[in-house]
Amino acid sequence: MSTQRIVVLGAGHAGLSIAETLRRKGFAGSLALVGAEPGLPYQRPPLSKQYLNGEWDESRLVQRNAEFFQRQAIDCVSGDPVQAIDPHARRLHLASGRELAWDQLAIATGSRVRRLSVPGADLVGVHYLQTLAQARALRAQMAAARHVVVIGGGYIGLEGAAAFARAGKQVTLLNRGSELLSRAAGATVSDFLRRLHEANGVQMEIGQVVRAIDGDNDRVRAVVLADGRTLAADLVLVGIGAEPETTLAASAGLQCRDGILVDGCCRTSVNGIVAAGDCARFEHPLYDGRSVRLESIQNAVEQGRVAAATLLGEEQHYAAVPWFWSDQYDTKFQIAGLSEGHSIEVVRGDIETGRFSVFCYARKRLVAVESINAPADHMMARKLIMAGVSPTPDEAADPACALRDLLARAG
Ligand code: NAP
Repeated sequence: MSTQRIVVLGAGHAGLSIAETLRRKGFAGSLALVGAEPGLPYQRPPLSKQYLNGEWDESRLVQRNAEFFQRQAIDCVSGDPVQAIDPHARRLHLASGRELAWDQLAIATGSRVRRLSVPGADLVGVHYLQTLAQARALRAQMAAARHVVVIGGGYIGLEGAAAFARAGKQVTLLNRGSELLSRAAGATVSDFLRRLHEANGVQMEIGQVVRAIDGDNDRVRAVVLADGRTLAADLVLVGIGAEPETTLAASAGLQCRDGILVDGCCRTSVNGIVAAGDCARFEHPLYDGRSVRLESIQNAVEQGRVAAATLLGEEQHYAAVPWFWSDQYDTKFQIAGLSEGHSIEVVRGDIETGRFSVFCYARKRLVAVESINAPADHMMARKLIMAGVSPTPDEAADPACALRDLLARAG
């Protein structure tokens, strides 16, 4: 193989997966992993869970230590954001003035948080939670806070609200639409989560948007709702979604449309450049080629492996079942598949026991399973969706029906 130099742009979960896979598969050329943030690559999921709860310290977040990168001969460039990709000269230009030459490039720039754009959104005490630096700042201010307002009822908002409630704060969560976690979950789970948070003392304001954030001396004091009410707040967490980080790729001429467009092998529109993770948009073969962009660890890691294989000239096609999870209080929520567009929900188990799964169907086809404290259902759901096997709604609803036996229908 002629490639001698590979650069991976982005040191999140996808970037690290690409770099590790390249070495595991025997790539012996020069390899650089370039990240904008300082420090070693770290795990993001615990930021809004164990780290915010105070259960983990920063050292536990680190994914691979410096010796690992040394042993693997991976040049880990951190805290030096890339300013431009030059696809013709095959170089990256870094903020420090450094240039990195590559024969092939992998882009794993991830996503960036959507910013709240109301008066007062820049006040001290208004936080976002995507990077370690943001999590550190939030955790530092948490101890002194009494009234916390969480804006957004997605993953960040719900996991944050759980951490604040557990820490004894008075928490109000504002959700714009009528259902929590609307991007990820169906009505049954959304309703269960609302009741779970209310039982833990979180005040829910459903269908509410923020008009402004008020402050005293540049520090947040209250959140003003569109209906005119004012909620006292000394800490605000904003979790209103993420957008793909495609600025560099688009400037370099790569085709982008709410994500960098890639084919089933993670190839972008420019020869010699692949992309994977939150920043990549592709046609998912398990969902009739629907164009998707997935924000998840599973996708980052597994798509990263395929991108690495492509860089090495292998013909691998990405076709993994998407899966997601969230921990809130003592509840584990897991999703297998993509529920978007489903029209039928079938419950397996008893919602009131806090242990059940919701099988989501688009017509007669099982497209996703959402599990609450039911990890065995979740694991089986991944296998069923991968195999293209749809239990009938009666079978799904019957806890006595062994889902495993249905796998024999595959093929
Ligand atoms: P998210 O899960 O997409 O949720 C965004 C929420 O913000 C939705 O509830 C949406 O409500 C609301 N929203 C959107 N625009 C709004 C606006 N202008 N004003 C008020 N509300 C608005 O995103 P997130 O919770 O911010 O998470 C950010 C990223 O972190 C995502 O990539 C997510 O996957 C990742 N993350 C994942 C996990 C996990 O998988 N467990 C945990 C933490 C973070 P409506 O739909 O009602 O408008």
